[in-house]
Amino acid sequence: MTPNDEYKKLLPSPDNVSREFFEGVKRHELLIQQCVSCEKHMSPGRMQCPLCWSRDLKWVKAKGTGKIYTYSVMHQKYHPGWEEDIPYNFGIVELDEGVRLHTNFVEIAEKSDKEVKRNDLNVVIK
Ligand SMILES: [Zn+2]
Repeated sequence: MTPNDEYKKLLPSPDNVSREFFEGVKRHELLIQQCVSCEKHMSPGRMQCPLCWSRDLKWVKAKGTGKIYTYSVMHQKYHPGWEEDIPYNFGIVELDEGVRLHTNFVEIAEKSDKEVKRNDLNVVIK
């Protein structure tokens, strides 16, 4: 992560393993990795399959659907870049491919917990 003068939140520093994921983000595409040998999907940034240990991985577009695995609402300032967003949420989404990703959920800030559906989530990159 590197600080940026214009954008106050932390930005990632893509490396050789994660660069494809972040290039997809720029195109508003959610990419995950898939093992060519056993077809297991996995979160971005892996160098080998956690199931069969193959290093033959490819990038694929996620379906874009999933469910909220867990989330929390932040009411304290942990980083100055998020100060204007308090309260904001932070959570983990489980994609239909079985991959769990850290995220924040947008356009639900005004809804109560009971209104937030935990299933049938459409996952997009904004
Ligand atoms: Zn595998």
